[in-house]
Amino acid sequence: MSCGFDLDHYRELLEAAAAGGYRFAHFEAEPQAGSVYLRHDVDLSLEAALAMARLERELGASATYFLMTESVFYNLDSALGRDTLGELRDLGHAVGLHAVHPRAARGDDRFDAVLAWHNPEPSYVNDPVDGFLNVMQPPWFTKGKYRSDSNQHWREGCPHEELRAGAFEWLQLLTHPEIWVYPGLTMGESMRSLLDAKREEWLDHLANDRIDLA
Ligand SMILES: [Zn+2]
Ligand SMILES: [Zn+2]
Repeated sequence: MSCGFDLDHYRELLEAAAAGGYRFAHFEAEPQAGSVYLRHDVDLSLEAALAMARLERELGASATYFLMTESVFYNLDSALGRDTLGELRDLGHAVGLHAVHPRAARGDDRFDAVLAWHNPEPSYVNDPVDGFLNVMQPPWFTKGKYRSDSNQHWREGCPHEELRAGAFEWLQLLTHPEIWVYPGLTMGESMRSLLDAKREEWLDHLANDRIDLA
């Protein structure tokens, strides 16, 4: 099995977790043995989030999607943003706030009271946040029970074999949908694939906005 960053291998990761006897949990109660928290920080692309969310549903998996309200790359108040929020819920996923420190507005009913900071500093990343469960506060963040695909690189290796073997007591697995949905052997290549797709999407948005593209 090759550990590519693509939806085929993401599917294999989820199948490995199921084969290892894990169940998919949301960030609510404290971690139990056998829980896998699928966490997605949506930094760049709602389209990628939806593609991943639909695959998870097909495989009987449920995740928590962390969405930004102040992203330069997407707008939750657009039609696509509203549809994405609705579809993620319809697919059975949880939705949390991907906040930019120190802003963490409470009472926004689009989000569950669960938060992940975007590009956090070590000085506050593990601190409790008033009104939220911070996914990086203990016990939800525990060393050895956390893996992340940051910049298309597993610092501690792809976890598929350990999942299949049931080697984690439980696991928080952070993946960024953009990395898995857009093809590329490196982060740079994947980002260029994303930009190619965005270009086509933007041309559609321009046409829909009655811009003459002749
Ligand atoms: Zn792998
Ligand atoms: Zn982020």
